Amino acid sequence: MNIENLENILKDEPKYRLKQIKEAIFHDLIDDWSKASNLPLALRNKLSKECPLEINGEILKSNDKQTLKAIITLDDPPGSEASLRDGGASKLQIESVLMKHQDGRNTVCVSSQVGCPLACKFCATGEMGFKRNLTVSEIVEQFLFFARYENKISNIVFMGMGEPFLNYENVLAAIHILNDEDGLNIGARKISISTSGITEGIEKLANEKLQLNLAISLHAPDDELRSELMLINKKYPFEKVLNAVDDYIKKTSRMVMFEYLLIKGINDSPNHARRLARIMKKPLHMVNLIKYNPAGGDFKPSDTKEIERFKGILEKEGVSVTARHHFGGTIKAACGQ
Ligand code: SAH
Ligand code: SF4
Repeated sequence: MNIENLENILKDEPKYRLKQIKEAIFHDLIDDWSKASNLPLALRNKLSKECPLEINGEILKSNDKQTLKAIITLDDPPGSEASLRDGGASKLQIESVLMKHQDGRNTVCVSSQVGCPLACKFCATGEMGFKRNLTVSEIVEQFLFFARYENKISNIVFMGMGEPFLNYENVLAAIHILNDEDGLNIGARKISISTSGITEGIEKLANEKLQLNLAISLHAPDDELRSELMLINKKYPFEKVLNAVDDYIKKTSRMVMFEYLLIKGINDSPNHARRLARIMKKPLHMVNLIKYNPAGGDFKPSDTKEIERFKGILEKEGVSVTARHHFGGTIKAACGQ
């Protein structure tokens, strides 16, 4: 796809064409220009060449059919730098996940990079290393792929492969397309970005005139433990991240969600919970507990009993806290897998 260049591709066409074409892509969800019968043949041919609509993906479904995972094959030319980094034998692939909630919401979890350079100890994406940033079209097409399949997508989360704030420009440009009334028309309040704490991104996001949701991967109540789990904490230490969030809240008055992964015997004791509560007991802070999903390595998920105890301590201390519903473990589509 080449969605970000549509305006350029259509520069010699009358103005109304862009709107027609956006409608065909984002509303009618066509996957082939031959289906856009309201466009002249010559233009359809040009678009087929310059902005093809085909998405090379396959779908896996979880046993309970609540979770669908898409594996999308990207189009790096053979011999390109990115494909060579993978040994050159196979094309690069990314994964996206559709979660069907019981209340009718359908959330798509999209990737922002192929792999991730940050190598958090608990994350399978981190383990595979970094290949390259995704383009704007490659981000949008993950959403389109599911929209064509399922039609009614209500929410989108940047919680797939990669660190969104290391690909800030493309992530924001994709969000503008997802948010555009003539595009997919997904409200900014329905879009969430999760970051491992890249403070430049948090600062920039605070100045965007968009009511997006921000989530921070915290996972530990102090610098020492956080550095052990997330190498990025050395460059963006705990205090620096929390200060950037305070400034973000001052500027936007928006709630920030702190993700806290519960790993058995590592960060899930009552003492960890009490220390976390002390830091999180602030207006517009909320904690989202995530049970660790096996992703290689030696970690184990906390027991349900420990998760409940951890949650109870936060609640008793007056912290707003939720536990994340677990989707997609049977098809390796859960967080971090
Ligand atoms: N790179 C971004 C966004 C993608 S990860 C970030 O780190 O925030 C989305 C969430 O899944 C993050 O909170 C991440 O810490 C969490 N995660 C990573 N590995 C996990 C695992 N094995 N089990 C559960 N959650 C995991
Ligand atoms: Fe990258 Fe996020 Fe995985 Fe860490 S948790 S390696 S930042 S994708």
